Amino acid sequence: MREETRLKIAIQKSGRLADQSLALLEKSGVSLAKSRDQLLCRAENFPLDVFLVRDDDIPAFLANNVCQLGILGQNAFLEKQALGNGKFESLAQLLPLGYGKCRLSIAVPHDFAYKSIQSLTGKVIATSYRGLLAAYLKQHDIDADIVTMEGAVEVAPRTHLADVICDLVSTGSTLVSNGLVEKEVILRSEAVLVSNKITDPVIAGLADKITSRIKAVLRAENSRYIMLNSPTASLDAIKAVLPGSASPTVMPLQGRDDMVAVHAVCEEGVFWNTMEALKASGASSILVVPIEKMLD
Ligand code: ATP
Ligand code: ZN
Repeated sequence: MREETRLKIAIQKSGRLADQSLALLEKSGVSLAKSRDQLLCRAENFPLDVFLVRDDDIPAFLANNVCQLGILGQNAFLEKQALGNGKFESLAQLLPLGYGKCRLSIAVPHDFAYKSIQSLTGKVIATSYRGLLAAYLKQHDIDADIVTMEGAVEVAPRTHLADVICDLVSTGSTLVSNGLVEKEVILRSEAVLVSNKITDPVIAGLADKITSRIKAVLRAENSRYIMLNSPTASLDAIKAVLPGSASPTVMPLQGRDDMVAVHAVCEEGVFWNTMEALKASGASSILVVPIEKMLD
């Protein structure tokens, strides 16, 4: 009997992206037999195998077609492409996933007299992102030396290994506690869904299905369902305040000809100030509820 054709996706085994990547697959309706210690996790209800690996290895898994999809930081993906001599050219970013947000930045010691990017000329820069940094320096026509470090890049200036650093920053607290100041942002990054060139039509169909489910999950997560009552006379004013909703549903309220009910899916943030603006425009009984799933 021919073995069932299964799609394979690589995600980070442990680290900053691991939990959210697994949760995203689960929200997309993939239920996994949880055995995090293993390399491979079989989905029970979808022809999908999940490879739990180091993020740095994901591009190679895709390039060698061990997996067809992968989730990793754009920073790690673009760095592999920058250094890969064309090996990773055929891989494509399908979708930003909205988590793992960070930036790749140049930071200098607080007593470094930094005026502009020109101040880096002749300096030694420590980084784990040689490819992206070299491209950035070349683009700005700056001649500087790059020292590659695997980790703990932020201590390089203190140990006189380098003058400045180029590293990932999210809150900036690591920089502050090492006496460093962020000066240039080279790249803004988040987790992305990446794929290789899929030739098998069955696998391609499965990859499309998972990709559109993930899209639907992300859309639903960012959307809210708003219900409110509006004086008929204020309807236009209220529609103007409803965030990211083209055509709300307007329904009569029984026994009232001066009021209507308005329901809308808002695909933008609905914040307290949005609700206050709705109220100020005449809305009452405002309800905002999360949306679990959404498919057009
Ligand atoms: P692995 O063991 O898989 O190689 P790692 O140590 O390379 O893990 P993590 O530190 O878990 O990786 O980071 C994974 C990704 O999380 C980064 O490549 C980046 O895209 C993202 N990220 C978000 N915020 C930060 C941050 N402040 N520092 C580092 N990475 C961050
Ligand atoms: Zn890594």
